[in-house]
Amino acid sequence: MLLREALREARGRLAQAGAAEADTDAWLLLSWCLDMSLADYALHSAQELNPADEKRYFAAVGRRAERIPLQYITGEQEFMGLPMKVTPDVLIPRQDTETAVQECLRRLGGEERVLDLCTGSGCILISLLHACPGLSGVGADISGAALQVARENARRNSVSAQFVEGDLFEPVEGQFDLIVSNPPYIPTGELGGLEAEVRDHEPVLALDGSSDGLLFYRRITAEAPRYLKRGGFLVYEIGWDQGEAVKDILEQAGFGEVTIVRDLAGLPRVAVARYGAQPQQQRRDGDV
Ligand code: GLN
Repeated sequence: MLLREALREARGRLAQAGAAEADTDAWLLLSWCLDMSLADYALHSAQELNPADEKRYFAAVGRRAERIPLQYITGEQEFMGLPMKVTPDVLIPRQDTETAVQECLRRLGGEERVLDLCTGSGCILISLLHACPGLSGVGADISGAALQVARENARRNSVSAQFVEGDLFEPVEGQFDLIVSNPPYIPTGELGGLEAEVRDHEPVLALDGSSDGLLFYRRITAEAPRYLKRGGFLVYEIGWDQGEAVKDILEQAGFGEVTIVRDLAGLPRVAVARYGAQPQQQRRDGDV
């Protein structure tokens, strides 16, 4: 079979399986299997694919046709320009989440201490540490299997981070200048309507935000003041329709300067709030 015939065949199989980006994924899998650039392909598309490569390629295409996400097949996803290992134990890093990282970076740059709750693959914390060499950071997650991936990603990107296992703040000690989290935020009733790749293959533990999707914002916001330095920031990734609800949760807990930031698609995606920024908080702590 010629390379270009293999590619055509794979596109057809993926389209038939209902994969949204069939053409792109057929190419990305070929490129991954053969370690081949687009320029190489242009030169060699009329050459025979050797039988071993053909077998490997169609095995990968077959898995993708089962709607396994591309990144769980290749084991990789780029995030903030950095290579991240992914396995089915972690949510695949999304471009939306880069907006949360950017908002953190706008508020960091010195020798701050950062906490990433529900760190998963570690992508948020690791990209922050990579961008700001003075920072130190802790990543927490309830999943030990996710933390193994996070540790590997820290090694891969030559950053040093501490990872701790437990339920939200339970394994966390000390105080931080910034707490960031992309917690599970999909309402339980909406999980069944997600695309097959997410619904059937990504960890439900990283997605299910309880009946209204807001459980983790309530829990984290309630406990965060104990772990934040005065003037410290709380940064959340949120669902596109959760801006008002999360703003309310933050304000009712006494956080100030609440801002909702939009992602590249123009949708509300990040909530930022400051601890101790409201007059009410300052009075209570006798600080003014
Ligand atoms: N953005 C993810 C999705 O669309 C959800 C991430 C989360 O729940 N934290 O599936």
